[in-house]
Amino acid sequence: MLFKRTLPPAAAPIYIDDIISGVKGYFSGQQEIERFRTELKAYFGVRHCFLVSSGKAALTIILKVLQEIHPERKEIVIPAYNCFSVPSAITRAGLKTSLCDINEDTLDFNYTELSKVLNLENKSSNARSQNKKKLAVIATHLFGIPADVEKVRTCIDDPNVPIIEDAAQAMGGEYNGKKIGTRGDVSFFSLGRGKAFSTIEGGIILTDRDTLAEEIKKKIEDLPSYSVLDQIILCIYAVILNVFMRPCLFWLPKSLPFLKLGETIYDPNFILKKMSPFQAGLARNWQEKLKSLMEIRSKNAKHFGNAFRNNVCNKKIKTQDLKLSSPIRFLIKIEDRNLREDILKKSEKLGLGIMATYPDSVDRINELMDDFEGQNFPVSMECAKKIITLPIHPFVSNEDKTRIVKQLVAS
Ligand SMILES: *Cc1c(COP(=O)(O)O)cnc(C)c1O
Repeated sequence: MLFKRTLPPAAAPIYIDDIISGVKGYFSGQQEIERFRTELKAYFGVRHCFLVSSGKAALTIILKVLQEIHPERKEIVIPAYNCFSVPSAITRAGLKTSLCDINEDTLDFNYTELSKVLNLENKSSNARSQNKKKLAVIATHLFGIPADVEKVRTCIDDPNVPIIEDAAQAMGGEYNGKKIGTRGDVSFFSLGRGKAFSTIEGGIILTDRDTLAEEIKKKIEDLPSYSVLDQIILCIYAVILNVFMRPCLFWLPKSLPFLKLGETIYDPNFILKKMSPFQAGLARNWQEKLKSLMEIRSKNAKHFGNAFRNNVCNKKIKTQDLKLSSPIRFLIKIEDRNLREDILKKSEKLGLGIMATYPDSVDRINELMDDFEGQNFPVSMECAKKIITLPIHPFVSNEDKTRIVKQLVAS
């Protein structure tokens, strides 16, 4: 395993120029934050934008604000196949996760189920009070696959229940000519390491709602800032990422278990801070960078799509056949558990960057299990056991693609 070319499963490279911009950003201070906010507002065509320490932090702030508007409502409806950061943020905000099963092909809500989750309570005798438990619905654009936000709207018969778009994995993507993250009442993006575009860690909130924005602004003003030391540590981390994300060196961080690379964990105790000027500085020229990253990932995804369409004769492997404007990894479903394990093991040995995603559906997270006793989300559970992803980031060379395809076709 040592010294072997090893692909990271996901990567948005951080270049030396970015780090220099970060340091300049640090010295510009608040001005740098304002620059990034202004650019984001213009790009997305929205009225309000706020910057925090992560996607989880962004969601937590949104939820806390919504909770203050409707203090009697506690439940947040999310797809049961999901990033564990989402229930982490819901718990952090003092709220309850309510789950809905998904559609296997889109990974979006199963809309028949969603209508039930949201409105079934209406039919029972204590209908109204029951239904008033739902504080918000989160439409999730998992792996850059657009969720049908308009359809979520049709499932909600209470206009007071807002839609939050989780666009953590879909920055830059579009759906029917509209940018992902501009269709709900409020949305958030992640600038974390494995996302479409990264400032090491970071989160963006967008909204057109003036009243919401007013409250979000107050909440953010109360958040602590990154200290000078915090920003120096981020800068050192950026240098380390710059060096060790390269496939020729990635074996090293990957072999250090305490880094927990690629692990999805449930943990409500994350930092909740304002974004630092260093991070905003790292993001300089982000439109250009995002565009080029999206082009490369789309091109690589197309390559895999074509290769498998022509090659994979066995029906055991189902590839993603979606035309995505902003894929971040290439999805594959493998029904046969042994075959899947085998492929993951071989990838591990050969450094191919093929990865399982979330280890289980949200209802089966140890800390949350009790909340979902008697409930079942079979499609979400199955997806967690079937899906693997192929890397499509800029470090994936033509030779890597050939090796990956060969490995899967041979399976
Ligand atoms: C990564 C992610 C988040 C959380 O973002 P962080 O910046 O890692 O906190 C939320 N939702 C989804 C779907 C994600 O992939």
